[in-house]
Amino acid sequence: NLALHEANPICFYNAEMQQKAEFQSRIESLQQGALSRKEFEVWYQPKYDLATRKCIGAEALVRWRSRELGFLMPGQFIPRFESNGFITQLDFYMLTHVMETVKERRTTGLPIVPVSVNQSRLHMQEKNYLAYMQRLKTYYGAEDIELELTETAFDFDTPEMREHALHVMHELHEMGFRLSIDDFGSGYSDLTILNAIPLDVMKIDRSLLLAANGAKRMQAVLARMIDLGHALGMTVICEGIETREQEEMLRSYGCDHGQGYLYGKPMPEAEFSSFLEQHI
Ligand code: C2E
Ligand code: MG
Ligand code: MG
Ligand code: MG
Repeated sequence: NLALHEANPICFYNAEMQQKAEFQSRIESLQQGALSRKEFEVWYQPKYDLATRKCIGAEALVRWRSRELGFLMPGQFIPRFESNGFITQLDFYMLTHVMETVKERRTTGLPIVPVSVNQSRLHMQEKNYLAYMQRLKTYYGAEDIELELTETAFDFDTPEMREHALHVMHELHEMGFRLSIDDFGSGYSDLTILNAIPLDVMKIDRSLLLAANGAKRMQAVLARMIDLGHALGMTVICEGIETREQEEMLRSYGCDHGQGYLYGKPMPEAEFSSFLEQHI
């Protein structure tokens, strides 16, 4: 309401901010119950090989079908879960579900692609993280499971925290989990982590792809980033591919894999299962 806004900007913003704050505390009061009622769903978005145009993987992404609040996207609740710590429980739920599903598909002979799961930076500083991951690995196997950590997860407050996180990453890799650096190029990374962590996959952020649209200088940046990933022995994937032109540009720069609406939006598990039968 523009008129109201102009007449009394302070009042306008207060009402909106209060609504947001109320929604956020609502989320917090419902989180635990939602987890036990299994309101969080694992959706899958396909990843493609840019050369063969075949589905070679998927990313697991959370959706919340809340009895009280309706259908929610991660952007509406993940920030709150990050600040109140609940994200670690949700991540374990997601990862456990994915590992269970992959194992089940393997035993029943259904088609499988490697699945990546997002891991909050909070895990890095959590005491029981490695023990829990070891249990999951022993029970389900770490094959075909990739862990995505955003670039900003490696922005540490102290040298001790950095050392510990590097140790955790090495241990995870040792257990057989593949490691991916997510949203690469979107923040200000400490590039020395590229050498300090056994990373398997570089996942280039969608913002770089958008910035390269028709801009020669950013195209050069994108191409050199792909080369950098390869020079370090990583598989390179770009997120947010929506057009054939973007796909062709990335392919010409030697990018290995792609993810985006061009190939498929995130979809519920059953839907992804039939998708796989047709696109693998
Ligand atoms: P992300 O890990 O970078 O995931 C990619 C996001 O980009 C997803 O948004 C996906 O739907 C969206 N996307 C994919 N292709 C395209 C495209 O072609 N165009 C556009 N415009 N967008 C595209 P989503 O599902 O809303 O997830 C947002 C973020 O929430 C994720 O970003 C991730 O950081 C976080 N997240 C999602 N699930 C989890 C989870 O289980 N645990 C944790 N810790 N974070 C999660
Ligand atoms: Mg991700
Ligand atoms: Mg990403
Ligand atoms: Mg992203």
